[in-house]
Amino acid sequence: MLQNHEKIIIIGSGPAGLTAAIYAARAEYSPLVFEGMEPGGQLTITTEVENYPGFEHGIQGPELMDTMRKQAEKFGARTKFNEVVEVDLKATPKVVKTDDGEVYTADVVIIATGASARFLGIESEKEYKGKGVSACATCDGFFYKNQRVIVVGGGDSAMEEANYLTKFASKVYLVHRRDEFRASKIMTERARKNPKIEFKTGVTIKEVLGKEVMGNKMVTGALLENVKDGSTEVLDVEGIFIAIGHDPNTKIFAGQLEMDSKKYLITEPGTTKTKIPGVFACGDVADTIYQQAVTAAGSGCMAALDAQSWLEENEIQ
Ligand code: NAP
Repeated sequence: MLQNHEKIIIIGSGPAGLTAAIYAARAEYSPLVFEGMEPGGQLTITTEVENYPGFEHGIQGPELMDTMRKQAEKFGARTKFNEVVEVDLKATPKVVKTDDGEVYTADVVIIATGASARFLGIESEKEYKGKGVSACATCDGFFYKNQRVIVVGGGDSAMEEANYLTKFASKVYLVHRRDEFRASKIMTERARKNPKIEFKTGVTIKEVLGKEVMGNKMVTGALLENVKDGSTEVLDVEGIFIAIGHDPNTKIFAGQLEMDSKKYLITEPGTTKTKIPGVFACGDVADTIYQQAVTAAGSGCMAALDAQSWLEENEIQ
């Protein structure tokens, strides 16, 4: 037997990875979960989750994820904080390398690496990232007590973050490139009714404005550009929160697994099977449509069941 050999390795610890872990552990496979850069996934940087079934009064995202991890561990799943930095999925057994230099092998790999926040990609945004530009209102909102902030985006995340930030900020500008919103009606209406939120639509951020005080960079505003007529306007703000969606975490699988044009993993319709036998993908990393905690959890369950069938078919005990 190889050293560090596992029957099932799960990469990622959001709702998909941990649900796969619960199912695989209950089937007595004692899976090993690599939790990655953001243990618990995106729900750990959100506040209240109101739409996860079973919680009539909502539940805090971090609490939900902590409970899922404990549930998986209760049945024998093992979790490690490491990040997976390299894989060879075509090898037999499959090879998984972690950031501490360890090398593991596995019969099955379940990929549940999720997605990460997208940024605008402009130079000045890079310059002020972590110095007034953030992609996490829950993490950084507290620093903007009685200050003015911008939230960029027109989806549910932007609406949620804008509402959340009104707890601290004196004013929140919601800046969106179109006049229509991708966000659900209920979330948009909630933001519209909030007296601290002002909508600025049909505009994009052309430049993040800032200054340096005693060696510290800080944001002082944003230069907005109207998408129709090119006219510009400066908004004076101290913080800019980017909430424009996510990109799938698939870099380490490049050249090994099939991906779509946006680099989401492609699975066989109705299953979590990838083109490589014994490699399964679940949750946001393979979902371009739903991207909900509950759908991620559902597909994590599917991945564990698909993995179990594959191990049985291949008579791997
Ligand atoms: P999203 O629905 O994909 O929305 C992204 C928004 O950012 C869109 O309005 C998009 O504009 C804008 N955008 C994208 N790239 C941009 C760029 N380069 N510059 C300027 N604007 C840009 O992403 P999301 O809001 O993160 O939501 C993702 C999923 O999570 C959705 O399914 C959502 O329902 C779900 N979610 C649910 C909740 C909840 O129910 N509590 C909370 C948060 C998220 P366009 O519309 O013009 O493309």
